[in-house]
Amino acid sequence: MWLLMRFTACLIFAVILSGLGFALAQEKHQIDPMLPGSLNPEPLPPLQNPNASTPAKEMFARKSTPVPGRPRSIGIHSKGCLAGAVPLAMNGPGWQVMRPSRNRYWGHPQAVHFVERLAKNAKKIGWNGLLIGDIAQPRGGPMLADHSSHQNGLDVDVWFTPMPDHVQSRKEREFTEGTEMVTPDQLDVDRQVWTPTHAALIRAAAEDPVVVRVLVNPAIKKALCRDAGSDRTWLYKVRPWYGHAEHFHVQTACPEDSPDCQPPTPTHANDGCTTDLDFWFKESTLHPPPSKPKPPLTLADLPAACRQILKAR
Ligand SMILES: [Zn+2]
Repeated sequence: MWLLMRFTACLIFAVILSGLGFALAQEKHQIDPMLPGSLNPEPLPPLQNPNASTPAKEMFARKSTPVPGRPRSIGIHSKGCLAGAVPLAMNGPGWQVMRPSRNRYWGHPQAVHFVERLAKNAKKIGWNGLLIGDIAQPRGGPMLADHSSHQNGLDVDVWFTPMPDHVQSRKEREFTEGTEMVTPDQLDVDRQVWTPTHAALIRAAAEDPVVVRVLVNPAIKKALCRDAGSDRTWLYKVRPWYGHAEHFHVQTACPEDSPDCQPPTPTHANDGCTTDLDFWFKESTLHPPPSKPKPPLTLADLPAACRQILKAR
């Protein structure tokens, strides 16, 4: 009887805990924190009998080197992969890579050149330097955690925290937390941390010729709309999305060398500052009901060329 009572108590506790975990997961989806990395990342154990239903992310996450040769972005940002990836240098003139343990600092050369250019342009507006989050895995493809995009090596995450004045240690890169630019009620930017230079940095990214879209938190888009003044041509590329309160996400166009790259749907040709924004501040968008996670992508969901990318030595 005693044992049964203990078992029941444990069960109740486990149910409460899993409920809490679910609530936390929901919260994360809203706030989108930069998860900490690791100083000693353990290599993933080999996959036992991968088959047609094995999630593609399990396979791509186990590829620690790129496919050598000419660069090719394949598929779309949310279903794709990458050949000929190049690494972004850990430290450049005006940038530093964050969370290196994730090994997601690989990209099509176009994405890397974008970072180099943005770092230069950022200096001109008084931004000390860029902290760069995820670009892509060495062979692109779906990732084990956090992202459904960044698969074809053309997306770049840039932190809203400026680069510090020193070369950061591994520990700082893996564990420093990003700064939330949005108030806890998600209705506006936090004026304690948000500055006109943040807006200028987003504008510099949006005005880069290879950039097709910049995703920011809806409260940030609202602030940009409010403060943009009369020159609003760049605003159409900046679009609201869930999370993105600590970093912004830059999507670059399909490069000419990549015939298998599929361009994302073009943004609307307006500044997105009127009724388009209303949806994002509805109660049901700010606090969506729990939804079932989508089943993970398998290799069959990705372009056929991604099989070769995985197989290549
Ligand atoms: Zn991103």
